[in-house]
Amino acid sequence: MKDLYQKALQYIPGGVNSPARAFRAVKQKPIFIEKGEESYLFDREGKKYIDYCLSFGAIILGHSEKRVCKAIKDAIDKGCGFGLSTENEVVLSQIICKAIPSIEKIRLVNSGAEAVMSTIRLSRGWTKRDKIIKFEGGYHGCVDSLLVSCGSSLTTLGIPTSSGIPEDFLKTTIVLPYNDIHSFRAIIEKYYSEIAAVIIEPVAGNMGVIPASLEFLKVLREETEKYKILLIFDEIITGFRLCFGGFQNIIGIKPDFTCLGKIIGGGLPIGAYGGRKEIMDCLAPDGTCFSAGTFSGNPIVTSAGISVLSILKKEDPYQELTEKTKYLLESCNKSVKINQVGSMFTLFFTEKDVFSLASAKSSDCERFANFFKCLLKEGIYFPPSQFEACFLSTSHSNKDIEKTKKAIKQIL
Ligand code: PLP
Repeated sequence: MKDLYQKALQYIPGGVNSPARAFRAVKQKPIFIEKGEESYLFDREGKKYIDYCLSFGAIILGHSEKRVCKAIKDAIDKGCGFGLSTENEVVLSQIICKAIPSIEKIRLVNSGAEAVMSTIRLSRGWTKRDKIIKFEGGYHGCVDSLLVSCGSSLTTLGIPTSSGIPEDFLKTTIVLPYNDIHSFRAIIEKYYSEIAAVIIEPVAGNMGVIPASLEFLKVLREETEKYKILLIFDEIITGFRLCFGGFQNIIGIKPDFTCLGKIIGGGLPIGAYGGRKEIMDCLAPDGTCFSAGTFSGNPIVTSAGISVLSILKKEDPYQELTEKTKYLLESCNKSVKINQVGSMFTLFFTEKDVFSLASAKSSDCERFANFFKCLLKEGIYFPPSQFEACFLSTSHSNKDIEKTKKAIKQIL
């Protein structure tokens, strides 16, 4: 594994294709994965790990799920992609639109970032305004104007914003504190005529799991409606993770747009954005807002997505996943703060009553790094940063949970 890492460093910047994989925050060398089966990952040296990162939330039925793999293989046998329309795209789009009523029409793309980028463009095109509001700690993918005050990888690396983004781009982004009604109202009242959209993770998964308060989300909906600003829910993590649909189904708030990704591609690269019909119809070819992609709606990816969503609809595992996650977290003592929403959770290493990005101290990160290292030794893989959410899949067995509980208790 050491040799492979050296080779990777020679050819790939930092040895990785996405920074979180470099394990810098936990002061470890990256691991190289050979295969995944059910709840397990196997590295190149054959070491087995119970996986609670699950491809950063993209996997919900476990790795190499037989029915999903069959759907993928069947699709591959017919060809890898044609740059033409296929039935799969229509089927997947229909499943999603039926599950999330605010999505009247949907476009499939190749990543969450692409979905967000396209939604922002469409919002600006529709409203003829330029400014976007995002919230501190929200991560919406590698999108130039939103790479400021992110949680996730950037926070982990201690980078406030990425280099290479023109100042003028950032001038169009207003960053506000999460869950702070007062500052949101103050800004909206001042700048409403310039604001195209407000984007939020309704359950923030990139500063650890921190749900937005219902009151806050209601205010966002009321104020944006009042000033004809578009409300975007980034449900790239929460879509089909917490119920069969989005978090919006649970709270009963309809955004104008929803961004999806991760689970809807069954572990393969995907993104999607959708919302009100009259706005979606402004996309090319019917409208003037451009959105295109060689691989968009790829038949293999959509086949995996249809398979996963069909299984989730039929088996409705959400209640059981929530209970299992709750049971797992009973092993934690008072030295950590726990946040759980369904099968998403985070253990916060903090001495404060409430965890926040701003109050995270380097000693907290140090404690998390030690915890991560100890877990890894026990064959348990958590996301390599305490700002990333942990997840459970339907393939985590009682044995996995018991082993993890015991390890967490001992390590803490
Ligand atoms: N939005 C959220 C909430 C995410 O968690 C992520 C990725 O982790 C993205 C957007 C970007 O998605 P992708 O990595 O597929 O571009």
